[in-house]
Amino acid sequence: MTSVPTIGVLALQGDVREHARALEEAGARTLPVRRPEELESVDGLVIPGGESTTMWRLARSFELLEPLRKRIEAGMPAYGSCAGMIMLADRIEGGAAGQETAGGIDMTVRRNAFGRQVDSFEAPVQLTGMGDTPYHAVFIRAPWVERVGEAVEVLGRAESGPNVGRIVAVRQGRLMATSFHPELTGDHRVHHYFAELVRRATEED
Ligand code: GLN
Repeated sequence: MTSVPTIGVLALQGDVREHARALEEAGARTLPVRRPEELESVDGLVIPGGESTTMWRLARSFELLEPLRKRIEAGMPAYGSCAGMIMLADRIEGGAAGQETAGGIDMTVRRNAFGRQVDSFEAPVQLTGMGDTPYHAVFIRAPWVERVGEAVEVLGRAESGPNVGRIVAVRQGRLMATSFHPELTGDHRVHHYFAELVRRATEED
C-alpha cells in the first residue's frame, strides 16, 4: 500500500486553492498553513505565487519565517512557484529593502526578471523527469534563476524569445521551484512530481 502524504499550502497570500486542488488530484491530502503548529503537522509544503514582499512580511508577523527555515533545514520537502521560488532562494536580486527569504535552495533569483513589458506570457518548457511533452508554462511577473550552486539540478529553461536559456525550474534534493504557475493549467505533472517526492521522503524518514 502506498502512503498518502499531507502537503501543506502556505496560505498567507496567493493562489492557495488552485494548488490544493492540483495536489489532491495528484493523490495528496492538503492543509492550509498559517500557523507554526500547522506547519509542524505537514509532510511537505507548497509556497504559492503571489507577491514575495507581502509573503515575507506576513510570514514574519505570523511568526512563520523561523519555523519554516528550521523545517526546511531539517529536510521537509518544499516546492515554491513564482513568489514561492523567491521564498526558497538563498539569495535574491531586485528584492525590496531588507527583503528576507526562507531559503534552502543554493541559487540567486532575480525578482520580476522578465520585465514589465512582458508582465505575463505563456511558453512551452521541457521539464526533466516530467514526461516528453513540453509543459505549457504560465509566467506572471515571474522571476528567473540567475545562478545556481553545484547541488542544484536545473529542470527547465526558457526555450525561445529574448530570454532563451534562462533557468525557470530547479530542484535541490527535497526542494524544488518553478518561475511559472503550474496550478493554473489542467496539467498537474509538477504537482504529481512533488507529491511523489514527498511520499518518498516520508518513507525515508
Ligand atoms: N513578482 C512577484 C514577486 O516578486 C511574483 C509574481 C508571482 O508570484 N506571480 O513576488
